[in-house]
Amino acid sequence: MRPFAYIRAEDAQSAVHRASIVAPSHIGNPVQYLGGGTTLLDLMKLDVMHPTTLIDISALDPARYGHVEKIASGVRIGALARMADVASDPMLVRDYPVVTEALWLAASPQLRNMARVGGNVLQRTRCSYFRDPSFVQCNKRNPGSGCAALDGYNRAHAILGTSDQCIAMYPGDWAQALIALDTTVEVLGSNGARVVPFAALHRLPGHTPDVETSLAPGDLITAFVIPGGPWRRSLYRKIRDRESYEFALASAAVALDIDGDLVREARIALGGVATVPWRATAAEVFLRGKRVDEANAKAAAEIAFAGAQTRAHNAYKLRLGQATLVRALLEAKELFA
Ligand code: SF4
Repeated sequence: MRPFAYIRAEDAQSAVHRASIVAPSHIGNPVQYLGGGTTLLDLMKLDVMHPTTLIDISALDPARYGHVEKIASGVRIGALARMADVASDPMLVRDYPVVTEALWLAASPQLRNMARVGGNVLQRTRCSYFRDPSFVQCNKRNPGSGCAALDGYNRAHAILGTSDQCIAMYPGDWAQALIALDTTVEVLGSNGARVVPFAALHRLPGHTPDVETSLAPGDLITAFVIPGGPWRRSLYRKIRDRESYEFALASAAVALDIDGDLVREARIALGGVATVPWRATAAEVFLRGKRVDEANAKAAAEIAFAGAQTRAHNAYKLRLGQATLVRALLEAKELFA
């Protein structure tokens, strides 16, 4: 690990101010916020990330930045809340099961007790070429160097949202629940506070896979707001190589609003298969006004994966992803039936 400066932030404004001064550009950002540190410190030890300054935000006012509160428009979750605390919040468990299930199925108990939800949505890919600097070719870590995964071992890589520069999979779980429910993100930046749709937070790799989010240097995520909705009939299903402490090969966040037998509204997001949290809007539109039976669920899954591009070792993800979504839809329909 390389030397770095450590600053303990007194308040959010001063943290953003300091970060904005030191960080002139998002490329190779020399300043990083330190919350739980569960991703960042790993990547620093691997010499994948080498910030010169860490601004520790973990002690910012928990009453403002670290808890879950019901508000008129829905629910607000402070970005410094711990994953485990959000996962066990009784109101979320009851009214937004997909939000808590996605957290319970992520990481390990130790990590959930440490990691903050703001950092969770920004976790970086598990592409093994990205995490091992001995591989020179990685456009995400070393822009312009190429992509070792395109013709390398790509079993875990994405099949949706890829580019000829990067096929790295977005590894998180919680983000799928957030994007499915039209969450917004409260961001504090050098020009003040603003609200960003969660769907606009992550960027497709395109020609610049090293630029992963729409955040500007110094921007600090302070909270997530999930709009109110009839989402008790919601769930998260995750398929992985082992049942604990493993990243998704395929996952689905599903929320259904059903009137009689027919879908009034469906929300669908896919994980483990895409380069960013992936909302399957066309599949949602298809299901509107229909029954959630096996035929319609399969048709929705076909639509959700239209445009998928597979590689030598990840072709199985197409079938697996579709089957995961079908199962999630059919199981969600049965809730409260
Ligand atoms: Fe790097 Fe992306 Fe290629 Fe992995 S898939 S080697 S992260 S450019």
